Amino acid sequence: MVAILKPYKLVSREFHPHDTVIDVRGKKIGGRHFALIAGPCSIETEDQVMTAARAVKSAGGSMLRGGAFKPRSSPYAFQGLGLDGLKMMAAARDETGLPIVTELLDPRDLEGLLAYADVVQIGARNMQNFQLLSEVGRCAKPVLLKRGLSATIEEWLMAAEYILKEGNREVILCERGIRTFETATRNTFDVSAVPVVQLACHLPVIVDPSHATGRRDLVLPLSLAGIAAGANGVLVEMHPNPELALCDGPQSLSPVAFAEYSGRARELVEWTGKEIS
Ligand code: PEP
Ligand code: MN
Repeated sequence: MVAILKPYKLVSREFHPHDTVIDVRGKKIGGRHFALIAGPCSIETEDQVMTAARAVKSAGGSMLRGGAFKPRSSPYAFQGLGLDGLKMMAAARDETGLPIVTELLDPRDLEGLLAYADVVQIGARNMQNFQLLSEVGRCAKPVLLKRGLSATIEEWLMAAEYILKEGNREVILCERGIRTFETATRNTFDVSAVPVVQLACHLPVIVDPSHATGRRDLVLPLSLAGIAAGANGVLVEMHPNPELALCDGPQSLSPVAFAEYSGRARELVEWTGKEIS
């Protein structure tokens, strides 16, 4: 018997020494498997999501990410297309084969979302929404859990523990920047979170340099930092026409920039001994 003295148990390496590898429709993430996840912040039109999906696919991306239920700071900002947006993503998956990652805001939408999503994202603002965490802990799809805006690593791991405790062992942790006094970037990218979490926890850890910085010119350098630190994947915002994006345009890469980004990221992923799925 091993006595676990931390405030979390199921997520810890003491409890589960080996890296968890998650298989999403044949795309693997965790251990030596790396996932390149990309797409627009929000789903806007059929054409927009299809163009984005083709760009992710042709650049060698692993999964398509897009928001249909958007957590916007202002109630007057575009809130997403809801289920209609998810249907558009499903059409893009049918054509490209890319699994879908999308955010859940409200447990009442879980059933509808599960009809389309392959990975359920829990956003930074809901990292400590414990009812929501328990609810996705009872579902049969992997969960992508973002770090809260001002959450410590221990709080983040305890949030993951809520999900595992309900039976769902497939959680991907995502470092997306934290709030500090610095204003040059939207948040401060905490690259140390990658190895700190990996030493303590067996779950895959990915980085989101788009939300961490809010600036497209910082997406590549901070992705490279995250990959060099051992990340199991990246989540990057890409829009067919970033200038016209309804959400997060300034941090979104164009398809051309994304193809170049993907090539650079891939070289470093290979250098770390990982393989893009
Ligand atoms: C998003 O992924 O589009 C998002 C809103 O991110 P976060 O929850 O990290 O702010
Ligand atoms: Mn966004």
